[in-house]
This record gives sequence, structure tokens and C-alpha cells, in this order.
Amino acid sequence: MIAVRGLRTRLMVAYALFFAIFLTGLAAVFRARLESTLNTQKQDKLTEEWASLKGGYLRIDTGPEGSPVKGQNGANWIYDKDDPDEKTEVLDIQKVFLITDRNGNVILDIDTGDRQVSSAYESIGIDPPQVVRQRVQEALQFQRTLKPGSPGKAFWSERRGSDGVRYLVRSGVFFDEGRFESTVHIPYYVSIGISLGDSDKTLAQFTWVYVAVIPGALILGSFLGWVMAGRALTPVRDIARAAQRISGSNLSLRIPTRETGDELDYLILTFNRMIDRLESSFQQMKQFSADVSHELRTPITGIRGQLEVALFTAQTTDQYREAMFNALQDIDRLSQIVRALLLLSQAESGQVILQKSRIDLCEVGSDLVDQFQIPAEAAGVRLSADLPEECFIEGDRVQIERMITNLLSNALKFTPEGGEVRLRLSAAPEFVEIVVEDTGRGIATEHLPHIFDRFYRVPGSGTAPGPEQGLGLGLSFVAWIVKAHHGKIEVQSTPGKGTRFIIQLPAPGVGSDSMELAGEPAVGG
Ligand code: ADP
Repeated sequence: MIAVRGLRTRLMVAYALFFAIFLTGLAAVFRARLESTLNTQKQDKLTEEWASLKGGYLRIDTGPEGSPVKGQNGANWIYDKDDPDEKTEVLDIQKVFLITDRNGNVILDIDTGDRQVSSAYESIGIDPPQVVRQRVQEALQFQRTLKPGSPGKAFWSERRGSDGVRYLVRSGVFFDEGRFESTVHIPYYVSIGISLGDSDKTLAQFTWVYVAVIPGALILGSFLGWVMAGRALTPVRDIARAAQRISGSNLSLRIPTRETGDELDYLILTFNRMIDRLESSFQQMKQFSADVSHELRTPITGIRGQLEVALFTAQTTDQYREAMFNALQDIDRLSQIVRALLLLSQAESGQVILQKSRIDLCEVGSDLVDQFQIPAEAAGVRLSADLPEECFIEGDRVQIERMITNLLSNALKFTPEGGEVRLRLSAAPEFVEIVVEDTGRGIATEHLPHIFDRFYRVPGSGTAPGPEQGLGLGLSFVAWIVKAHHGKIEVQSTPGKGTRFIIQLPAPGVGSDSMELAGEPAVGG
């Protein structure tokens, strides 16, 4: 649960961060665009004002009779004072303006004698004489033809007034009209500006709105993140809950898939498969404990019965001896079972270390067939061996002998008198094949998959419970030994006709070490 909550918080933080970064980025882009649009507007406006100034509103003329600048050059504003549009336009221009001579001295109005500089322009600072001279110089170089009205070089600058307001300023050079007829044209410095205060205010408002919106967006993002992460994680929580309900006694529970085919469904499927495997292992373990206690109970009951006979009913020495003998037989079987079980569990848990060496299987096979001749003759079964000259394998001699012994003894046990049992060996480049076949009672198809299980005996195997009955562990051993030697085992059987066990073991040098731990058996067939 803690982990799920942690994940949810992390997802929420990720959402919120994403929102914050996204919105901040968006705000930055919008602000930049807004700023550039506002700047362009101001520039256009100033360019327009400059054009109308140049186009006729302003001329530098010689002061006529009665003018405050009589005989000198002064600014001559020419516009229709009764036309509100023209008047507004000129007044707009005159809000921020400066007209000086080529040395930076402010000139006067031809009619009123007013200094041609507005107070707003004074607040941004009258251009120093050296700047004016420099600009005039540049303009003169730029302006080859000294025609009035021809475009001059424009200087753009951005300045700040004493009140902190920013101004966009455009400066340039005009030439006087009065002496146009003469060959000398005197340059004058004209500069007009426009306040950027309202643009700045708009930008500041925009910024403040954003600053106010971003925390809101963060809260919204976090909330959305929390809700969406919660929704996405609900199935995970369901899986965890279902997993908690599953216990050793409740392994049949499965988590239903949501049929969405997504990663979580895949997780559920994987989880269910794991539970399948666990269930089957649990089942095997349960079955095994039940089998073991059952197998042990039989001889223990036998021993108890014999001891009771000895204690309560036996009177003669022979009766005592017989009871003791029977009890000993049961004890033998008991220790046989315990020994076999111990060995098998050691083998299957990898505690038995195989002592592998190069062994001649033909020699082993021939020895074993010889050993089994006497019991075979006693049972009236013909036992034969079909062996090549030699066939070597890398293996643990003791275990290989145990494997063939188990198969031969089973074959003899389940083959009636007059039958036949045969051991065949053959060598191929990649493997050596061991075949044990008999003409016995065979195994019905439905039992074939189980004969390698521990304690499995085909029902009605004929051997009555007692000392002669098999333990049902022989083939489990065989399977483990084959697996430990990296081999394969297969069984073919026809009820009433016979059984054939086919084992293939890798030929020497075909993928195995000389000494290794044996794992769990895997069986084919
Ligand atoms: P057991 O010790 O009882 O023989 P195994 O594990 O060796 O146990 O064999 C399991 C069962 O497989 C036997 O009880 C028997 O029913 C069947 N079986 C094994 N080998 C043969 C065979 N050659 N012919 C018929 N049945 C066989």
C-alpha cells in the first residue's frame, strides 16, 4: 500500500511539474510575441509620424519680417489648424520631439519663437552636441543628393525618461528650405519619440495574470495528476488485494483479467501463471506427504500387529519367532522406504554430486544381465542382451547401474513366465541409446504420464501389499538419473503385449562436465 501511495504521489508531482514547465514555457513564448507585436506597433506609429513630418508638417525656413527668428532659420510647422486630424497628429508628434542645428543647439519656432524641444524629450535627455554632429556627419555621407524630402538615414534608439518610462526614439537629419535656391543646404537634427509606457503596462499586466494563474494551474495539475494516477493504479491495488487473499490453503484463487490487453493484464496473467505453478507444487507436496505417511503406516501397522501377537497370543517359541521375523521384515521395509526417500530427496534437491567418469556401458550392461540371470530363470523369463563391441559415456557408474537395475527388475517383475526381457545398447555419434524391453503386462495409456511420480504404482499391479511390493520410487530414481546425465527418457507400452523404456544419454564430449550437481528430474515419454 505504501508503495502504491508513493507511486501516486510521484505521478502527481510529475503531472504538476509538467503543467508548471509547460505553462511557464507557454507564457514566455506568448510574452515574447506580445512584446514584439507591441514594439512593431510603436515602430510603425513612429515611422508614420516621421513620414508625415518629412512629408510637409515640418520645414526649416528662414524667419520672415516680424518673426522671432527674423533672417535666421527656424522650425516652420505647416498644417491646417482647423483640421482636427492634422492638429492631433502634429500635437502627438510634438509630445516628444527635438529640433537642433547641426551643432546640437535647440532651434526656435519660426512663428512663436518657442524652443523646439518638448518637456518629455527633455526628461529623456537632449542629445549631446557630439552625438548630433556625429549623426549629421553620417547623414551627410549617406545623403548624396541634397534634395529636400529625400529619405535620410534613420537612427533608432530606446531611452528611459527621468520618470522611468521607456521611449522609442527616431532621429534623422532635415535640410533647410530657405536657402534651397542657393547651393548650400544646411542640415538640422530632428528627433521624435513615442512612449512605451502603455506597452510596458500591458506586458506587466500579462505577466501578473500569469504569475497569478500558474499556482492555480499547479493546483489543478496536481489534482488531475492525483485523480488520474489514482485511476491508473486502482487495478494495481486490486491485484495487491487479491494477492493478499491468496494463501497456502487458498491457492485456487485467480485474479480476473480486465480484458484490456494492457500491461496490467499481462501482469495479472503472469501472476496467475505463477500461482498455477505454486499450486501444482503445493499439490505435489501435499500428495507426497500423504503418500509418505501412507507408505510408512503400512509397515508400522504390521510391526504393531506382530508385536501384539507376540505379546498377547503367542505361546510357543516358534510363534514368538515367527512374529519377530515378520516384524523385522516390516522394519526392513520401513528403513528401505526411509533410505530411498532420503536419497531421492537429496538427489532432487541437488545434494548428490555425480562422480562422472568415462564408462563402458556395454560392460556395465553385460554384468547386470549376468546378475539378473538367476532371478530371471527362477521366474521362467528369458533375459538377453544385445550389445555392440563397446559404447562409452561420461557418467556416474553407481547411478547408471542403479538406473539399468531398476528397469531390468521392473521388467522381470511385470513379465509373466515364458516371457522375454531384453537389454539393447547402441551408439550413435551424438548419443548412446539404452533400451529395456519386455513382453510383460504393459501399462495402460492413462497411467503412462504418472509412472515416474514418487510412490505411483499402477493400480492392480498384481503384487500384493507386503514385503514384495515395490515402493513406487524406482522410476522416480531412473528419471532423476537420466536428467542428471542430460539425457532423455521415453516409454512405449501396449497393455498385454509389453513395455519398452528408451533412454538416450549424450556421447562423451557432448556437453557435460565431469562432476556436477544433479537437479530436478524431467521426463519425456
Ligand atoms: P515400483 O517400485 O513399484 O516398481 P516404479 O516407480 O519402478 O515402482 O514403477 C512404477 C509403476 O510403473 C509400477 O508400479 C508398475 O505399475 C509400472 N511399471 C514399471 N515398469 C513396468 C514394466 N516394465 N511393465 C509394466 N509396468 C511397469
